[in-house]
Amino acid sequence: MKFELVCLFKFSGDVDDKQDYITKLIKAAEEDLLKRGVPKDLEGGASVKDMIFHPHALELKVVSDRYVRAHDAVFRLKKNLSRNLGKEYHIGIRGIDIISYIVELQCEFKPIEPVTVPFTEDIEFEERLCRFNASKLTQEQMENNYVDRIIKRIQEKVNAQHYKGKAEQWNLIWSSQEKRMVWDKDPTVEMEKRGWILKGPTKGKWFYKPQAAKILNTMERIAIEEVLQPLGFQEVIQSMMVPFDVWIDTGHMEGVPNEIYYVSEPLTRTPSEWEGFVDHVKIAREIPVALLKELISEPRSGICYAQCPVIYWSLRNQTIADESLPLLVYDRTVPSARYESGGRHGIERVDEFHRIEPVYIGTLEQLTDLRESLIQRYTYVFEEVLELEWRMAQVEPFYLQQSGGTDKGADENEGTIDFEAYLPYRGDRKESEWLEFQNLSIFGKYTKVFNIKSQAKELYSGCSGIGLERWASAFLAQKGLEPGDWPERFREFHGDPPKGLKLL
Ligand code: ATP
Ligand code: ZN
Ligand code: MG
Repeated sequence: MKFELVCLFKFSGDVDDKQDYITKLIKAAEEDLLKRGVPKDLEGGASVKDMIFHPHALELKVVSDRYVRAHDAVFRLKKNLSRNLGKEYHIGIRGIDIISYIVELQCEFKPIEPVTVPFTEDIEFEERLCRFNASKLTQEQMENNYVDRIIKRIQEKVNAQHYKGKAEQWNLIWSSQEKRMVWDKDPTVEMEKRGWILKGPTKGKWFYKPQAAKILNTMERIAIEEVLQPLGFQEVIQSMMVPFDVWIDTGHMEGVPNEIYYVSEPLTRTPSEWEGFVDHVKIAREIPVALLKELISEPRSGICYAQCPVIYWSLRNQTIADESLPLLVYDRTVPSARYESGGRHGIERVDEFHRIEPVYIGTLEQLTDLRESLIQRYTYVFEEVLELEWRMAQVEPFYLQQSGGTDKGADENEGTIDFEAYLPYRGDRKESEWLEFQNLSIFGKYTKVFNIKSQAKELYSGCSGIGLERWASAFLAQKGLEPGDWPERFREFHGDPPKGLKLL
């Protein structure tokens, strides 16, 4: 990496006769101040190449390497010169003009297509060497690490061009015995025919009538009574709206902004401001959308995508007492909304779904044990209560997928297990795609990002997404819709089917 910055220091007074003094300060800084950050035993840092004095200004060219960013070097120099010139001569530095800032970096690959990134101009490549112009960045943007993030983004984009189409990591851990399938129909289609479910009032949503509602609620009870309560999880109730800053921290804003349902608030609640809108609705019986746009705010939050971000938010900057570790909570009240668009199918891939999300925070040992206990309880449920044909696979942690798939920071203790079920209506068990009906993850990053600490040890966290529509889809696809065909333990939880609603 190479940074080359040409800038102009603008002084509050005449420095014509202070050139020697300033030059001496800069030479001294090059020996020490501009080398801070360079690992011991290594050469490097920033140095000042050209200096051109003007009566009230100094033009500088600063060249540096990966250890010291040229702009950091310039800010250090500014501080140093201001302090000394102020003390000696009562001269200050009024500001810095950036004349040009060229950054060079090596990428892992040569790009296949042109790469563009905002806040830069002229991104050029010579094989793997990338050169870009960052001259338009403001001082504040430089101080806020924009340059590092631009470099990271360029590397990400080049890598993505090469990884496009490569299969995700997927390693089988365990699979159940083959089970007898009751039928090979798509349960969504059959439930619709029987009037158990109704396509929702908007895209990708469903209205669950009593028969289907009872099945989803039975799944929820099984998960709570057979998995979460025995392991000591406590229930919380969270907000369904998630502000952008929380999702910036979790990575969702860069990973899945195209799947989020955004929320707008009314700009005002004053009825008179809405009068024209109401007039229009009363007379035209339709919504004047252009007028509505003027009456609502730009979104600053979205509807829950997964419950864990707000649970992490609730613990931001907190220290968890040892007696509360591992911290085990779950939310089951807030539905998740995801714009699945072309991927929608039946009740298994919907835009609004119901999930229980247990979240756990603890030391690595605690969470490693917990993962085992969770898998044990889940296995009991899928084998003994639902009697599913299912399997577990180690996959990329979801935050790698949900944060653009480029965050390479994961350590070996982190990871995600997907639980998948065979869907006979999709065809042969070897050839067809199985349904991910839940997952289980452990991460190191969220406790750091949200600054969640313990009294002593480093904390890890994790979550498991129990999708009720997915549990139901897996179960019904294998066991059919006739209670007489359902496994006994499930029937005990479910009880008698509801009478249902007879519509003529
Ligand atoms: P997929 O790869 O199927 O899109 P995902 O990786 O996006 O799933 P996660 O964010 O890991 O899913 O969510 C965990 C759980 O939430 C899933 O295992 C599933 O039970 C449920 N889930 C996710 N998306 C949907 C959806 N669109 N409809 C119903 N359930 C869903
Ligand atoms: Zn989660
Ligand atoms: Mg998804």
